[in-house]
Amino acid sequence: MKFDVFSLFPQVFNDYLNSSILLKAIENQLIEVAVHDIRDWASGKHHVTDEPPYGGGGGMVMKPEPVFHAIEGVLGVPPECPIILLTPQGRVFTQKDAQNFARIPHVALLCGRYEGFDERIRQHLVTDEISIGDYVLTGGELPALVLIDAISRNISGVLGDPDGAQDDSHAENLLEYPHYTRPENFRGWKVPEILLSGNHALIADWRREQSLRRTWERRPDLLEKAALSAADYAKLKK
Ligand code: SAM
Repeated sequence: MKFDVFSLFPQVFNDYLNSSILLKAIENQLIEVAVHDIRDWASGKHHVTDEPPYGGGGGMVMKPEPVFHAIEGVLGVPPECPIILLTPQGRVFTQKDAQNFARIPHVALLCGRYEGFDERIRQHLVTDEISIGDYVLTGGELPALVLIDAISRNISGVLGDPDGAQDDSHAENLLEYPHYTRPENFRGWKVPEILLSGNHALIADWRREQSLRRTWERRPDLLEKAALSAADYAKLKK
């Protein structure tokens, strides 16, 4: 899958993309991330990308020309893939979105700064508006990295374990079961015996129950959307 990212601060992406799972995914050509500096597409000696808002008020607004030129210059007219605007005004990104985006071959992510964008970018260029939560950040770079990371985990081969994302929290509107690793006994706190039993059917059953209980305790709202079997309901009633 290819991500074309448009930003005024492209250097922000380097460290995160050059580490761990995402780096391996890039090296294995499972994902490709091209980060484009919007300033390169701004005209004039000073490459101005933002101006004060018409009507007055504080802050600066990102100008339409450099953003249109950058996206059309890289992706053509009309652009060859969906253009996602990162904005606190968009619909809130979920694991379902991450799974759905992972099925498409190419997306563009547009990162804002300052007070945000000239409205004509929203109206005439972007195809989707996404927020990563109900709070306001300084720029769209962290949200873009959040999308790249969450989407990539759902691309086949990116995680070492092929079923890695399947049990993740939110994958089926459930939270994941608890994990334990060595040592078996840490300060008197012991690993649940069932996990040491070697009985994979019993372990799977225990994990399912833990996942259901944990979701019930912490996020009962999710359970309303989860596809539960009769056996799951029986576990919850215990
Ligand atoms: N004035 C804007 C508003 O109130 O809607 C907020 C602008 S914010 C300071 C600058 C940029 O950060 C936005 O254009 C957007 O790209 C990004 N941003 C901030 N919070 C975000 C969020 N929760 N989700 C996605 N992007 C966000």
